[in-house]
Amino acid sequence: MSLTTKAILITGASRGIGRATALLAGQRGWSVGVNYLNNEAMAAQTVQDVHTAGGRAVAIQGSVTSEQDIIEMFDVSEKSFGKLDGVVVNAGIVAPSMKLVDMSVERLENMLKVNVLGAMLCAREAAKRLIKNEGKDSSSIVFVSSAASRIGSPFEYIDYASSKGAVDTLSLGLSKELVEHNIRVNSVRPGIIATDIHASAGRPDRAQEVGSQMPMGRPGTADEVAEAIMWLLSDASSYTTGTNLDVAGGR
Ligand code: NAP
Repeated sequence: MSLTTKAILITGASRGIGRATALLAGQRGWSVGVNYLNNEAMAAQTVQDVHTAGGRAVAIQGSVTSEQDIIEMFDVSEKSFGKLDGVVVNAGIVAPSMKLVDMSVERLENMLKVNVLGAMLCAREAAKRLIKNEGKDSSSIVFVSSAASRIGSPFEYIDYASSKGAVDTLSLGLSKELVEHNIRVNSVRPGIIATDIHASAGRPDRAQEVGSQMPMGRPGTADEVAEAIMWLLSDASSYTTGTNLDVAGGR
């Protein structure tokens, strides 16, 4: 693991995988832009915990569905830390389990708006800023996709799985566009991870229920995914770009 200190922005860092990544970054003395949507108290807690761990952090409210909010979250991060070395495009949503035939157009639009348009707008802004800051050290964009993109999630959420398929393709294409700028682009594909996202879709016990059927016999933790994200952000992964890293317990 490289000891280089970095400044990063993480979307959706108040809870779950984003928060776990912020805390690991804090332990390495990094500076972290902690974006959140609604949960101001948890974002403030994350900022405090990053400080306690030895890093610096700033909480930034904003939705990844708003171009203006995204520009502002990058502006605040750069103003706070000088320049950015990495961006984690993490914020994402699921919705209640059902078959595609039962999904409303409102649900489909919202899913694509947050998970695909949001990821694309964040990626575009990340590319602009990291190109502008181009230096001798490589910088890194990490997308948080999902193992759902290669499974399809039938009877649960084909809409979500498809949105993550789009994220995989976005990550691959962008890796080729940015390689000449010394910017690496990769995605992690978590499997079943114990976070609040399952409760947000009305199934608080899903991680335990489905996780116990995985080859490893358990759900993963947000910390286990954060370790993979940190590796892709760090200079330790200096020859890795355009890849999807599965963190899915053998699924
Ligand atoms: P989570 O615990 O539900 O946390 C979601 C985070 O995203 C929160 O910080 C939330 O902010 C933020 N957020 C939601 N909508 C947003 C928006 N429009 N703009 C900005 N921030 C927004 O989720 P998680 O389980 O950590 O998931 C993180 C990522 O991993 C997602 O992309 C998810 O698809 C992916 N993933 C998760 C799993 C899993 O099993 N958990 C598996 C595969 C992939 P507030 O706290 O303010 O609401």
